[in-house]
Amino acid sequence: MTEKKRIQAILDILDKYYEKDVKCYLDHENPLQLLIATILSAQCTDDRVNIVTKDLFAKYKSAQDFAMANLKELEQDVKSTGFYKNKAKNIKTCATTIYEQYGGEVPQDLDALTELAGVGRKTANVVRGNIFKIPSVVVDTHVKRISIRWGITLCTDPVAIEMDLMKKLPKEHWIRYNTQVIAHGRAICTARAPKCMDCMFLALCPYGLSKRMDDLTEEAKEALEKGHMY
Ligand code: SF4
Repeated sequence: MTEKKRIQAILDILDKYYEKDVKCYLDHENPLQLLIATILSAQCTDDRVNIVTKDLFAKYKSAQDFAMANLKELEQDVKSTGFYKNKAKNIKTCATTIYEQYGGEVPQDLDALTELAGVGRKTANVVRGNIFKIPSVVVDTHVKRISIRWGITLCTDPVAIEMDLMKKLPKEHWIRYNTQVIAHGRAICTARAPKCMDCMFLALCPYGLSKRMDDLTEEAKEALEKGHMY
């Protein structure tokens, strides 16, 4: 099987088992809210962020509100997401730029987004893909781990992984690859104990196949013998 066909087979299985409609795991009602929720999600679970933003977005409704916020108070508002001093400072500075330079509207341009305080390529791509539907590859911890296990990339640097994925994945998969891979990473291909023997990608996954052959099911062994596996 060629590399291109193997990747397409992986994408077909993703589409078969996971939602094709992009589902953002961070609750939001507008671009600013998603931008701030994504800044808060660094080193924090989406569930925790969603608890915090419920009150946060009720209190601060616009870029101007965040720009005018009392920093100490904002720190307390986001404290439970961790690294709260940096996050609060970045949110206030970022919102000030959006308010003063962009009339309160989150910009779509990648360079403009990544120039905002606290906004790297990952955050920028989350907003561009989810909000503006601009084809973008978001490399988070699940995408990084699983893309390496699948052998789609050999890189470990997130920007290099993003470039690799943009080269190898058809553009129409760029946005949903992230949300589908997150779902797979949470359900089956977890960081510490991937359930390879129960995984629908096993036949296409170098990492899974490199695990002990003894652990393979009879069905998988038979498929391997017939040359159906990578
Ligand atoms: S076979 Fe294992 S490593 Fe490969 S995708 Fe499935 S769970 Fe992850």
